[in-house]
Amino acid sequence: MTDATRTSSHLLSGIEPDPARDAGHEDAPPRVGFFTDTSVCIGCKACEVACKEWNAIPEDGITLSGMSYDNTQGLGASSWRHVAFVEQQVPVPAPEGRRELPLLGGGSPAAQGPTPTPGGPAPETQGQAQASDSGVRWLMSSDVCKHCTHAACLDVCPTGSLFRTEFGTVVVQEDICNGCGYCVPACPYGVIEQRPEDGRAFKCTMCYDRLGAGQEPACAKACPTDSIQFGPLDELRERAALRVDQLHEAGISDARLYGEDPEDGVGGDGAFFLLLDEPEVYGLPPAPVVTTRDLPVMWKHAAVAAASLIGGVAASFAASALTGRKAGR
Ligand code: SF4
Ligand code: SF4
Repeated sequence: MTDATRTSSHLLSGIEPDPARDAGHEDAPPRVGFFTDTSVCIGCKACEVACKEWNAIPEDGITLSGMSYDNTQGLGASSWRHVAFVEQQVPVPAPEGRRELPLLGGGSPAAQGPTPTPGGPAPETQGQAQASDSGVRWLMSSDVCKHCTHAACLDVCPTGSLFRTEFGTVVVQEDICNGCGYCVPACPYGVIEQRPEDGRAFKCTMCYDRLGAGQEPACAKACPTDSIQFGPLDELRERAALRVDQLHEAGISDARLYGEDPEDGVGGDGAFFLLLDEPEVYGLPPAPVVTTRDLPVMWKHAAVAAASLIGGVAASFAASALTGRKAGR
C-alpha cells in the first residue's frame, strides 16, 4: 500500500501494520501492547487491584459468586482487568515407580481412588496422599481489552469519544461519551460496557496517562510473575513465540498463542495471550471478526437498492405523466 493511500483511507479490516499512523499520528512511536503469559499467572489479582487503584475505578457490586475464586466474573465498566479461574479435572500421574493400570468400568485410577501396591503404604494412607493431589488444575488468566488493530468500538462511535492513540492503543474519553451505547455490541469480545448510572462506556485505557509519562501500565507493573508483559508489540510477539517453543519442548503441547496473528479477523490484538487450552475454556471467542468488516459492502448494497428505488419511482412518474398527456389529447 502506498503512503498516499494510507493517509487517505482508514482500513476496516485486513492487514494493518501501523494503526496509529492510519489514524493520523504521522510521527507515532512503535506500537505497544500486552503479552499475557497465562502459564505463569498465580491468580493473585494484584493486576485487578492495581488497575482499580491507579484508574480510580469505583466498586462494581461484587458478591460471592460461588465460582471458585472468580468473584469478578468478567470484564465490565468497572472491571478493566478480570482474572479468570478455570477449574479442570485432570488425570493425576501415577507416583514414580508405579504403573497406572486401567480400571474395570473405565476411568483413571486417579479419579477412582488409590491402587494398593505390594510393599506400599496402606490404601488409606495412599488415599490421603492422592486426596492432596486432587486431580484438579486451575487455569488462571488475566483478561483485558484487546486494543484491536481494527477496533469496531472506535469505528462506530459517533462522538469521537473512542480514539486511537499515538501508541496504537484504543482509549475512551469519559467526558465526550454521550452514552449512545453503539460501541457495546460492536466489540467482538464483549469488553466495553456502559455504567448504569449515566450510560457512559468504560474500558481499559492501557493506562494512557502512564504511557505518556514513559511508564508501564499499572497492572504490568504490579504483576509479581511477569505474567503480564508490556512493551513494543513486535518484541512481545517474538518473545511469545520463543515461550511457546520452550513450553512445547517441556512437553506442554497445548500451549498456544491467542490474538497475536496480524492476519486474524481483527488484524491482530494489541493485547494477546499464551493459553494452555482452547480459547473458549477461558471465555474467549475462538475466531473473532471485527464487526464493521462488512460495512463497505453493506453500504454498497444499500446504495444500489436506493438507486433502483429512486429509478423505479421516477420511471413510474414519467409513465403516468405520459399516460395523462395522451389522455388529454
Ligand atoms: S476489545 Fe472491544 S473494546 Fe477493546 S479495542 Fe477491541 S473492540 Fe474495542
Ligand atoms: S496476571 Fe500477574 S498480577 Fe494478575 S493474577 Fe496473574 S500473577 Fe497476579
